[in-house]
Amino acid sequence: MKRVLISACLAGFNTKYNGGHNYNEIFADMVKKGKAVPFCPEQAGGLTTPRNPSEITGGDGRDVLEGKARVITDKGEDVTEAFIRGAEEALKLAKLIGADTAILKSRSPSCSTKCVYDGTFSGTLRDGMGVTAAYLKAHGVKVIDSSHFIER
Ligand code: SF4
Repeated sequence: MKRVLISACLAGFNTKYNGGHNYNEIFADMVKKGKAVPFCPEQAGGLTTPRNPSEITGGDGRDVLEGKARVITDKGEDVTEAFIRGAEEALKLAKLIGADTAILKSRSPSCSTKCVYDGTFSGTLRDGMGVTAAYLKAHGVKVIDSSHFIER
């Protein structure tokens, strides 16, 4: 059976920046049945939980990977390198488990596949992908937004 990678917070793991999760039974069930393997790129990249919220400034995840944009916390810390490390670890795990698909949390600066906050911490969204989503996609992993299964 082919397994998929899934944002850990969707399955109920307390990996969110504020120490919370985005539990949904649909995703937890995928993990329970061995269909999905949970992973949090921000934790894997070396960031703490809880941690300060981050947004991409100057572009989206693709721009971060090209060195044209940075990931900055609301306190002004530059966490770009941790985000890139987390993306690399996500790909490593996808290869290890033979996953060619990842189900990723909407609106996250790491995981989003559709839109990200614009770096102003004002709740404004812009089109674009998170860093891990962009990295996985660039390496041939199909990325599916969690909102495809359920809107949150
Ligand atoms: Fe969830 Fe991804 Fe954020 Fe980790 S980085 S808490 S998996 S959305």
